[in-house]
Amino acid sequence: MKLFYFILPLSFLTLNSCKENKPTNPLDQLKKDVYYLANDSLEGREIGTKGEKIAADYIAKRYETIGLSSYNNSYLHQIERKGNNPHDSSTYEKLIKGNNVIGFIDNKSKSNIIIGAHYDHLGWGEEGSLHLSENNIKAIHNGADDNASGVSALFYIANKLKDKKLNHNIYFIAFTGEEKGLWGSKYLTINDSSLISKTDAMINMDMVGRLDSNNRLAIYGVGTSPSFIPTLEKLNEKPKFSFKYDSSGIGPSDHTSFYLENIPVLHFFTGQHEDYHKPTDDAEKINFSGLEKVSSFITDLVLDLDKKEKIVFTKTKEKKTKSRSFNVTLGLIPDYLYDGKGMKVDGLKDDRPAKNAGLEKGDVVVKMDTITINSMNDYMDALGVFEPEQTIEITVIRNNKERTQQLTFD
Ligand SMILES: [Zn+2]
Repeated sequence: MKLFYFILPLSFLTLNSCKENKPTNPLDQLKKDVYYLANDSLEGREIGTKGEKIAADYIAKRYETIGLSSYNNSYLHQIERKGNNPHDSSTYEKLIKGNNVIGFIDNKSKSNIIIGAHYDHLGWGEEGSLHLSENNIKAIHNGADDNASGVSALFYIANKLKDKKLNHNIYFIAFTGEEKGLWGSKYLTINDSSLISKTDAMINMDMVGRLDSNNRLAIYGVGTSPSFIPTLEKLNEKPKFSFKYDSSGIGPSDHTSFYLENIPVLHFFTGQHEDYHKPTDDAEKINFSGLEKVSSFITDLVLDLDKKEKIVFTKTKEKKTKSRSFNVTLGLIPDYLYDGKGMKVDGLKDDRPAKNAGLEKGDVVVKMDTITINSMNDYMDALGVFEPEQTIEITVIRNNKERTQQLTFD
């Protein structure tokens, strides 16, 4: 919890993270990078704030240390969008400015592979926080998993690839404004057609710091090129991740902007958790050896994709975007990586229907009232049919036993 925060002197952080002479081992470096970016002094890295600029400068410095070339003579590339800056009501619908941070390995090639991760987060949580809405108290949202983890992986991969002989130029892009709605990546794809038109594939890392003990790794966009699944399967012989595939190129992160330009995309994600978009998404909760494992896997993937003559793009079928509207919610976080029967509960909010009814983390919901719940989709559909204050029976499986309890919506 970061309700009461103190500011570490930046000079201390700078000394500890940038002025390195002796090489740091990759795992320690991942820790340093996540702890720096997710420190309270950066105040949640919201686009347009001082914390975002400190983060951008840090990323540029890391690129320089690794030896990446700057892009068009600069690592920082300003973007601007009209929006509502919640820190200042007088700026409503004024321009908000931030920076994408771009570095690359120049292999004198005509084609590129882009590896991306957004570095902005929710600041004090005025917009998009799941904390503020429940507690009505502002707090710093450090976004260690979302997405200091992905940015640290970016450095890891850049470091591993920089001295290799490769067929593509490899771009490393830390995006800003993702949390506002993919601002940084959209700005780039709209305004830099010379870079985009020569890009063969884009790999996005957004929330890769919470690998669980079952090694579950979600990979979205696998349907955007026929090359992807065979390559991923081949490379997984050793690390043995338990993959959860989703074919669609459209998802809630920056790869979507590239997919819409007909570029094959992959998005890596270690799964949803109860600290998502809350002040408790902190560096102490990162699984650093898991983060290293994911980073190393993506390094191998890039090396493999780099050898391919052409990475063919295929459009994916979008799931029916029938917009769902719910009259009720249960106040729980589903386990999006669970692929068994039913809907598995990954977390519960205090004083909400699910917790009040006695549901526990790990329960698998299989029935609500008369509706059988076989999947996440069934669960979402079911939510559409109930009314506030209605009481229903909910059946869950806990320790292999079915239990049914009464649940009252709020
Ligand atoms: Zn994110």
